[in-house]
Amino acid sequence: REWCVALPKVELHAHLNGSVRDSTLLELAKQLGDRGVIVFEDVKDVIMKNGRSLPECFKLFDLFHILTTDHDTVTRITKEVVGDFAAENVVYLEIRTTPKNNEAKGMTKRSYMNAVLKGLKAVEDVDAVLFDSILRPDETLSRTPVGDLDGVTKKKKIYVRLLLSIDRRETTSAALDTVNLAMEMKDQGVVGIDLSGNPVVGEWETYLPALEHAKELGIPITIHCGEVPNRKEIQAVLDFCPQRLGHVCCLNDEEWKKLKSSMIPVEICLTSNVMTGGAPSLELHHFADLYNAKHPLSLCTDDSGLFSTSLSNES
Ligand code: 5GP
Repeated sequence: REWCVALPKVELHAHLNGSVRDSTLLELAKQLGDRGVIVFEDVKDVIMKNGRSLPECFKLFDLFHILTTDHDTVTRITKEVVGDFAAENVVYLEIRTTPKNNEAKGMTKRSYMNAVLKGLKAVEDVDAVLFDSILRPDETLSRTPVGDLDGVTKKKKIYVRLLLSIDRRETTSAALDTVNLAMEMKDQGVVGIDLSGNPVVGEWETYLPALEHAKELGIPITIHCGEVPNRKEIQAVLDFCPQRLGHVCCLNDEEWKKLKSSMIPVEICLTSNVMTGGAPSLELHHFADLYNAKHPLSLCTDDSGLFSTSLSNES
């Protein structure tokens, strides 16, 4: 375990609001409880519960969003989440989040993302590198692992990039807004688009225009695929051929074949899949089959707060 913590790691699939510390959620819930917005005792039990089904997770995200969706809190959780990943020696982090419009809070998708950027700049004790190139020509990750001290600042370094998520509950127009925002922010650390949200909600045809627009603009795309056995959508996603896929749990023989020949890299979320029933157990997880087939894979946390895991634990 210590070896896994010390290892410089890459995290490619982490949802911002799913990676928040329990202690922060409890503190935020307490504040809202004191103001009579929620009943703290009820919320506390929900936050501390272990083991959750997929539908329970999405109910919980709605609660998390009540706790976290104001500009200052978005800034705070971004700062904490990046700090937590850096503390366990993640050297390259792609954090994904759904830009949110919230009229009551005076929030637009753009102002939400500005709050995220503010959080990235406020990360303490760590040099969170957002804008410059990932590696200088004279620098390689093996020469500069985290834990390696920067000569001047003596700070750990973490390279952070952002993916903007489209929530499956969104309309075509809202999804297009997110893609255009990603384009607008491509010089501010945004490197791609993600499609996520409750897999039993929404239709592929609703997001397709936005995903095609992203493709036309040359924005890389990652898609949550096969969390539930939706044959039609799995086919459509594989045919769309995004740059990466998340999860790929419920594929049939033909779809596995198609995935393997496509060589589309897969973001593997072991704990998440076992906890939410996407895989029957760690031993029977599809990771082994894809690994043995030499398919490009990356181990990821998905929601380290929600599933009480870490990238060291997943490794
Ligand atoms: P946020 O985008 O608000 O920062 O992070 C939470 C959101 O990420 C959730 O509301 C949901 O849309 C998405 N999400 C987090 N974990 C999962 C997952 O395991 N599967 C899917 N499909 N979406 C997820």
